[in-house]
Amino acid sequence: YDDAFDAVVVGAGLAGSAAALTMASASLDVLVVERGTSPGAKNVFGGVLYTPTIRELVDVEDAPLERYVGEKRFGVLTEDDETAVSIQPGAWRDDPHNDSYTVLRGDFDEWFAEQAVEAGATLVTETTVTGLLRDDDGTVVGVETDRPDGTLRAPMVVLAEGGNSLVSEGADLKERPERGDVAVAVKEVLEFPDADDAIEQRFRLTGDGGAAYHYFGDGAVGDAFGGAFIYTNDDTLSVGLAYRIDDAVTTQPNPAETLDHFKSHPAVAPLVRGGRTVEYAAKTIPEGGAEAVPDLVHDGAVVVGDAAGLVLNNGVHLEGTNMAVESGYYAGLAVADAVASGRTKAHALADYPRSLESSFVVKNLEHYEWLLNAVEDDRDLLFSELPRAVADAGAEYFRVDHAPKHDHAANAKSRLFETVGGWRGAAKLAWRYRKVI
Ligand code: FAD
Repeated sequence: YDDAFDAVVVGAGLAGSAAALTMASASLDVLVVERGTSPGAKNVFGGVLYTPTIRELVDVEDAPLERYVGEKRFGVLTEDDETAVSIQPGAWRDDPHNDSYTVLRGDFDEWFAEQAVEAGATLVTETTVTGLLRDDDGTVVGVETDRPDGTLRAPMVVLAEGGNSLVSEGADLKERPERGDVAVAVKEVLEFPDADDAIEQRFRLTGDGGAAYHYFGDGAVGDAFGGAFIYTNDDTLSVGLAYRIDDAVTTQPNPAETLDHFKSHPAVAPLVRGGRTVEYAAKTIPEGGAEAVPDLVHDGAVVVGDAAGLVLNNGVHLEGTNMAVESGYYAGLAVADAVASGRTKAHALADYPRSLESSFVVKNLEHYEWLLNAVEDDRDLLFSELPRAVADAGAEYFRVDHAPKHDHAANAKSRLFETVGGWRGAAKLAWRYRKVI
């Protein structure tokens, strides 16, 4: 082709399809190039899809959503204890269910890409973009693909290739992320052919309601910096974990062994018992926060979604899907304006970063910038010593024997205080994490 398209989108994930949909709706000729056999075929996530922006772009009535998230549960695991908090606001049972749904990406991404195609975009699958074309002054003017004669020229390229962004890095649009800014994740999907209603009963679900369980501590990911999860789908479970690559290459057993260990924890094993693995996958998560976000606009190109490091993973929130869609949408609007005015240099695309900065995406990344660093400094205390102390204190507080209750309460308090350093230590900790509290 020779400029047969106004824009080429690299990757039909959430960010790529949101950008394609937005540009096609603005009457641009858009080509989406996806390396998988279908959109989503290569995608790995937990996970919960957050839909506020998707819902504004398309009608999700017929979307392949699995279950709405009616319960969020956070559990801290030692080797053999669990201490957990569960949140089940009644309002989450009402439509649109806090915009949080479990999905299987193989189904959802395919459906979302179809919405872009219905809006007028062209989708090519089983094609990998191998590099970018540049003109004499360095402006990006198209892509190289792995197809014979697979060079495509276009005034604009949207890089939506996800966290493993080899094309963007190879073209110097961003630097390779530091090892400490990337997590490695493994995930499996389990089905329960021999246990009717296993998921409903084990997670106390009714109707379309589902649950998102998050786990931290030694029993979840050993000494590593990260966490584990279980999400309920219609009739399968998504079970996985993620931790820093730094730990994966140093102290931690490999991710598959760590996942097996997590699944054998006494508080987890009954939830996954009898599960048969129907999917097994691994992927990286960029989690460098606001500081690691590269330049979003270049002459002839924009970077969106995970490729731009737009993921909030602070332990309490793991949100990348909403950021991917929001960034794809704003990038799509900016590209449509730039193409319409015949100006595709970086400065003509400035509306994209400007919009993103005033949106929840950059605000959330900036707000929690400090958190990962703080948690990393306190990781032994938060993931190992404190969970052990809370479990011991809980067992002591509720102990039933011949001693009076106030003795047990005093012992429980001492156990906690010796770990955090008394009132002063507790106050310091509360102050340090006040923004989360
Ligand atoms: P991706 O979804 O990675 O899509 C990139 C697409 O580009 C893929 O389809 C890929 O095949 C294609 N591609 C890549 N390179 C090329 C190429 N060279 N040529 C052609 N095609 C290419 N977020 C949440 O909101 N909730 C969660 O519960 C959650 N859990 C997660 C759990 C795990 C284990 C992981 C790994 C991530 C999780 N995330 C979660 C993050 C979330 O998955 C991402 O933020 C989101 O998928 C980013 O979307 P994207 O479109 O930018 O990239």
